[in-house]
Amino acid sequence: MADAAKMQISDEVAIQITGMNKWYGQFHVLRDINMTVQRGERIVICGPSGSGKSTLIRCINRLEEHQQGQIIVDGTELTNDLKNIDKVRSEVGMVFQHFNLFPHLTILENCTLAPIWVRKVPKKEAEETAMHFLTKVKIPEQAHKYPGQLSGGQQQRVAIARSLCMKPRIMLFDEPTSALDPEMIKEVLDTMIELAEEGMTMLCVTHEMGFAQAVANRVIFMDQGQIVEQNEPKEFFNNPKSERTKLFLSQIL
Ligand code: ADP
Ligand code: MG
Repeated sequence: MADAAKMQISDEVAIQITGMNKWYGQFHVLRDINMTVQRGERIVICGPSGSGKSTLIRCINRLEEHQQGQIIVDGTELTNDLKNIDKVRSEVGMVFQHFNLFPHLTILENCTLAPIWVRKVPKKEAEETAMHFLTKVKIPEQAHKYPGQLSGGQQQRVAIARSLCMKPRIMLFDEPTSALDPEMIKEVLDTMIELAEEGMTMLCVTHEMGFAQAVANRVIFMDQGQIVEQNEPKEFFNNPKSERTKLFLSQIL
Protein backbone atom coordinates (compact mmCIF):
# COMPACT_ATOMS: atom_id res chain seq x y z
CA MET A 1 0.00 0.00 0.00
CA ALA A 2 2.77 2.40 1.00
CA ASP A 3 4.61 1.42 -2.16
CA ALA A 4 1.55 2.01 -4.30
CA ALA A 5 1.12 5.48 -2.79
CA LYS A 6 4.76 6.28 -3.46
CA MET A 7 4.46 5.12 -7.06
CA GLN A 8 1.52 7.40 -7.55
CA ILE A 9 3.38 10.43 -6.23
CA SER A 10 6.50 9.76 -8.27
CA ASP A 11 4.35 9.32 -11.34
CA GLU A 12 2.67 12.70 -10.98
CA VAL A 13 5.80 14.61 -10.13
CA ALA A 14 8.25 14.74 -13.02
CA ILE A 15 10.95 16.79 -11.30
CA GLN A 16 11.38 17.65 -7.64
CA ILE A 17 14.26 19.88 -6.54
CA THR A 18 14.72 20.61 -2.85
CA GLY A 19 17.26 22.92 -1.22
CA MET A 20 19.64 22.51 -4.12
CA ASN A 21 22.92 24.41 -4.23
CA LYS A 22 25.75 24.26 -6.71
CA TRP A 23 29.19 25.80 -6.85
CA TYR A 24 31.72 26.10 -9.66
CA GLY A 25 34.84 26.05 -7.49
CA GLN A 26 34.35 28.98 -5.11
CA PHE A 27 31.54 30.47 -7.18
CA HIS A 28 28.08 29.82 -5.72
CA VAL A 29 26.13 29.50 -8.98
CA LEU A 30 22.78 28.05 -7.78
CA ARG A 31 21.35 29.07 -4.42
CA ASP A 32 18.72 27.14 -2.54
CA ILE A 33 16.67 26.06 -5.54
CA ASN A 34 13.26 24.57 -4.75
CA MET A 35 11.03 23.53 -7.58
CA THR A 36 8.38 20.96 -8.39
CA VAL A 37 7.33 20.14 -11.92
CA GLN A 38 4.20 18.06 -12.32
CA ARG A 39 3.98 15.65 -15.20
CA GLY A 40 2.62 17.43 -18.27
CA GLU A 41 3.58 20.87 -16.99
CA ARG A 42 5.31 23.35 -19.25
CA ILE A 43 7.70 25.66 -17.49
CA VAL A 44 9.49 28.62 -19.01
CA ILE A 45 12.65 29.80 -17.27
CA CYS A 46 13.90 33.29 -18.00
CA GLY A 47 16.37 35.70 -16.48
CA PRO A 48 19.47 37.72 -17.30
CA SER A 49 22.54 36.19 -18.86
CA GLY A 50 24.68 34.51 -16.21
CA SER A 51 21.79 33.97 -13.78
CA GLY A 52 22.26 30.19 -13.79
CA LYS A 53 19.50 29.05 -16.16
CA SER A 54 21.69 26.72 -18.21
CA THR A 55 23.37 25.36 -15.11
CA LEU A 56 19.98 24.52 -13.59
CA ILE A 57 18.81 22.76 -16.74
CA ARG A 58 22.12 20.89 -17.01
CA CYS A 59 21.85 19.72 -13.40
CA ILE A 60 18.48 18.14 -14.20
CA ASN A 61 20.01 15.70 -16.68
CA ARG A 62 23.27 15.55 -14.79
CA LEU A 63 25.49 17.22 -17.35
CA GLU A 64 26.49 19.11 -14.20
CA GLU A 65 26.41 17.85 -10.64
CA HIS A 66 25.04 19.68 -7.63
CA GLN A 67 26.74 19.71 -4.24
CA GLN A 68 23.84 20.19 -1.84
CA GLY A 69 20.17 19.32 -1.70
CA GLN A 70 18.16 16.86 -3.72
CA ILE A 71 17.11 16.47 -7.35
CA ILE A 72 14.60 13.75 -8.19
CA VAL A 73 13.82 13.21 -11.86
CA ASP A 74 11.09 10.80 -12.85
CA GLY A 75 11.31 9.11 -9.46
CA THR A 76 15.10 8.70 -9.53
CA GLU A 77 17.31 10.75 -7.24
CA LEU A 78 20.38 12.10 -9.01
CA THR A 79 23.44 10.81 -7.22
CA ASN A 80 26.87 9.68 -8.31
CA ASP A 81 25.48 6.26 -9.20
CA LEU A 82 26.16 5.77 -12.90
CA LYS A 83 23.11 3.56 -13.37
CA ASN A 84 20.94 6.45 -12.20
CA ILE A 85 22.53 8.77 -14.68
CA ASP A 86 21.93 6.43 -17.60
CA LYS A 87 18.30 5.95 -16.63
CA VAL A 88 17.69 9.67 -16.24
CA ARG A 89 19.51 10.61 -19.44
CA SER A 90 17.42 8.16 -21.41
CA GLU A 91 14.20 9.67 -20.09
CA VAL A 92 15.18 13.32 -20.36
CA GLY A 93 15.72 14.81 -23.81
CA MET A 94 17.76 17.96 -24.21
CA VAL A 95 17.87 20.52 -27.00
CA PHE A 96 20.64 23.10 -26.95
CA GLN A 97 21.09 26.53 -28.46
CA HIS A 98 23.68 25.18 -30.90
CA PHE A 99 21.95 22.10 -32.26
CA ASN A 100 24.94 19.81 -31.54
CA LEU A 101 24.20 17.48 -34.46
CA PHE A 102 27.00 15.20 -35.66
CA PRO A 103 28.18 16.91 -38.87
CA HIS A 104 29.58 13.75 -40.50
CA LEU A 105 26.35 11.76 -40.06
CA THR A 106 23.18 12.14 -42.12
CA ILE A 107 20.03 13.47 -40.50
CA LEU A 108 18.65 9.92 -40.33
CA GLU A 109 21.89 8.63 -38.78
CA ASN A 110 21.86 11.46 -36.24
CA CYS A 111 18.38 10.31 -35.23
CA THR A 112 19.11 6.57 -35.06
CA LEU A 113 22.55 6.61 -33.43
CA ALA A 114 21.48 6.71 -29.77
CA PRO A 115 18.43 4.45 -30.13
CA ILE A 116 20.59 1.79 -31.83
CA TRP A 117 23.64 2.04 -29.55
CA VAL A 118 22.14 3.08 -26.22
CA ARG A 119 18.65 1.61 -26.37
CA LYS A 120 19.64 -1.40 -28.55
CA VAL A 121 16.73 -0.80 -30.89
CA PRO A 122 17.02 -2.81 -34.15
CA LYS A 123 18.22 -0.58 -37.02
CA LYS A 124 15.07 -0.90 -39.12
CA GLU A 125 12.82 -0.02 -36.21
CA ALA A 126 15.08 2.92 -35.24
CA GLU A 127 14.86 4.21 -38.81
CA GLU A 128 11.08 3.94 -38.83
CA THR A 129 10.88 5.83 -35.56
CA ALA A 130 13.28 8.46 -36.89
CA MET A 131 11.17 8.95 -40.02
CA HIS A 132 8.07 9.25 -37.86
CA PHE A 133 9.60 12.09 -35.84
CA LEU A 134 11.22 13.75 -38.86
CA THR A 135 7.76 13.79 -40.41
CA LYS A 136 6.39 15.24 -37.21
CA VAL A 137 8.88 18.13 -37.35
CA LYS A 138 8.02 18.46 -41.06
CA ILE A 139 11.35 17.60 -42.68
CA PRO A 140 11.19 13.91 -43.70
CA GLU A 141 12.60 14.85 -47.12
CA GLN A 142 15.88 15.94 -45.48
CA ALA A 143 16.62 12.51 -43.96
CA HIS A 144 19.54 11.66 -46.23
CA LYS A 145 21.23 15.05 -46.17
CA TYR A 146 23.96 16.19 -43.79
CA PRO A 147 23.41 18.84 -41.11
CA GLY A 148 25.53 21.39 -43.00
CA GLN A 149 23.09 21.23 -45.91
CA LEU A 150 20.15 22.36 -43.74
CA SER A 151 19.11 25.78 -42.47
CA GLY A 152 19.48 26.58 -38.77
CA GLY A 153 15.76 26.17 -38.18
CA GLN A 154 15.75 22.80 -39.93
CA GLN A 155 18.77 21.66 -37.93
CA GLN A 156 17.10 22.60 -34.69
CA ARG A 157 13.99 20.66 -35.69
CA VAL A 158 16.25 17.67 -36.39
CA ALA A 159 17.71 18.12 -32.90
CA ILE A 160 14.20 18.00 -31.46
CA ALA A 161 13.30 14.93 -33.56
CA ARG A 162 16.55 13.26 -32.49
CA SER A 163 15.64 13.76 -28.84
CA LEU A 164 12.12 12.44 -29.39
CA CYS A 165 13.52 9.25 -30.95
CA MET A 166 14.72 8.28 -27.45
CA LYS A 167 11.08 8.49 -26.28
CA PRO A 168 11.83 10.86 -23.41
CA ARG A 169 9.25 11.62 -20.73
CA ILE A 170 10.67 15.10 -20.14
CA MET A 171 12.16 17.58 -22.60
CA LEU A 172 14.62 20.30 -21.62
CA PHE A 173 15.27 23.21 -23.98
CA ASP A 174 18.10 25.66 -23.45
CA GLU A 175 17.49 28.76 -25.58
CA PRO A 176 16.59 26.66 -28.63
CA THR A 177 15.85 29.66 -30.82
CA SER A 178 18.47 32.18 -29.78
CA ALA A 179 21.00 31.15 -32.42
CA LEU A 180 18.41 31.32 -35.21
CA ASP A 181 17.61 34.00 -37.74
CA PRO A 182 14.24 35.62 -37.00
CA GLU A 183 12.43 33.94 -39.88
CA MET A 184 13.38 30.51 -38.54
CA ILE A 185 12.34 31.07 -34.95
CA LYS A 186 8.66 30.50 -35.64
CA GLU A 187 9.09 27.07 -37.23
CA VAL A 188 10.99 25.85 -34.17
CA LEU A 189 8.52 27.41 -31.72
CA ASP A 190 5.64 25.84 -33.67
CA THR A 191 7.27 22.43 -33.22
CA MET A 192 7.62 23.08 -29.50
CA ILE A 193 4.03 24.26 -29.21
CA GLU A 194 2.87 21.05 -30.87
CA LEU A 195 4.86 18.99 -28.36
CA ALA A 196 3.34 20.99 -25.53
CA GLU A 197 -0.15 20.38 -26.87
CA GLU A 198 0.52 16.65 -26.86
CA GLY A 199 1.21 16.81 -23.14
CA MET A 200 4.99 16.56 -23.03
CA THR A 201 6.55 17.73 -19.76
CA MET A 202 8.77 20.62 -20.82
CA LEU A 203 11.27 22.98 -19.23
CA CYS A 204 12.28 25.71 -21.61
CA VAL A 205 14.88 28.37 -21.05
CA THR A 206 13.77 31.02 -23.49
CA HIS A 207 13.18 34.72 -23.84
CA GLU A 208 10.40 34.12 -26.35
CA MET A 209 7.69 35.63 -24.23
CA GLY A 210 5.01 34.98 -26.85
CA PHE A 211 5.79 31.30 -26.49
CA ALA A 212 5.65 31.60 -22.70
CA GLN A 213 2.25 33.23 -22.87
CA ALA A 214 0.94 30.69 -25.35
CA VAL A 215 2.01 27.43 -23.70
CA ALA A 216 3.58 27.85 -20.26
CA ASN A 217 1.75 26.86 -17.09
CA ARG A 218 4.33 28.76 -15.13
CA VAL A 219 7.14 31.22 -15.75
CA ILE A 220 10.16 31.14 -13.46
CA PHE A 221 12.42 34.18 -13.24
CA MET A 222 16.00 33.61 -12.12
CA ASP A 223 18.61 36.14 -11.11
CA GLN A 224 22.04 35.62 -9.55
CA GLY A 225 21.53 31.89 -9.06
CA GLN A 226 18.16 32.16 -7.36
CA ILE A 227 14.55 31.70 -8.29
CA VAL A 228 13.34 35.23 -7.65
CA GLU A 229 9.74 34.89 -8.73
CA GLN A 230 7.39 32.43 -10.38
CA ASN A 231 3.83 32.69 -11.49
CA GLU A 232 1.39 31.70 -14.17
CA PRO A 233 2.18 33.69 -17.33
CA LYS A 234 -0.62 36.24 -17.18
CA GLU A 235 0.21 37.29 -13.62
CA PHE A 236 3.91 37.09 -14.27
CA PHE A 237 3.80 39.51 -17.19
CA ASN A 238 1.00 41.82 -16.06
CA ASN A 239 1.78 41.97 -12.39
CA PRO A 240 5.42 41.16 -11.65
CA LYS A 241 6.18 41.39 -7.95
CA SER A 242 9.90 41.95 -7.60
CA GLU A 243 11.82 44.97 -8.83
CA ARG A 244 14.34 42.70 -10.51
CA THR A 245 11.60 41.00 -12.51
CA LYS A 246 10.12 44.37 -13.50
CA LEU A 247 13.52 45.61 -14.65
CA PHE A 248 14.13 42.42 -16.64
CA LEU A 249 10.74 42.54 -18.32
CA SER A 250 11.17 46.21 -19.19
CA GLN A 251 14.38 45.29 -21.00
CA ILE A 252 13.05 42.39 -23.04
CA LEU A 253 9.43 43.23 -23.81
P1 ADP B 1 22.74 31.52 -17.95
O1 ADP B 1 22.42 30.28 -18.70
O2 ADP B 1 21.61 32.04 -17.12
O3 ADP B 1 23.30 32.59 -18.83
P2 ADP B 1 24.86 29.93 -16.80
O4 ADP B 1 24.20 28.84 -16.04
O5 ADP B 1 25.42 29.60 -18.11
O6 ADP B 1 23.87 31.18 -16.89
O7 ADP B 1 26.03 30.53 -15.93
C1 ADP B 1 25.82 31.00 -14.60
C2 ADP B 1 27.14 31.52 -14.06
O8 ADP B 1 28.03 30.44 -13.91
C3 ADP B 1 27.83 32.53 -14.96
O9 ADP B 1 28.44 33.48 -14.14
C4 ADP B 1 28.87 31.70 -15.68
O10 ADP B 1 29.98 32.48 -16.02
C5 ADP B 1 29.22 30.66 -14.65
N1 ADP B 1 29.62 29.38 -15.24
C6 ADP B 1 28.92 28.68 -16.16
N2 ADP B 1 29.55 27.52 -16.46
C7 ADP B 1 30.68 27.50 -15.71
C8 ADP B 1 31.76 26.57 -15.57
N3 ADP B 1 31.76 25.41 -16.25
N4 ADP B 1 32.74 26.89 -14.72
C9 ADP B 1 32.72 28.05 -14.01
N5 ADP B 1 31.73 28.95 -14.10
C10 ADP B 1 30.72 28.70 -14.93
MG1 MG C 1 22.44 29.85 -20.72
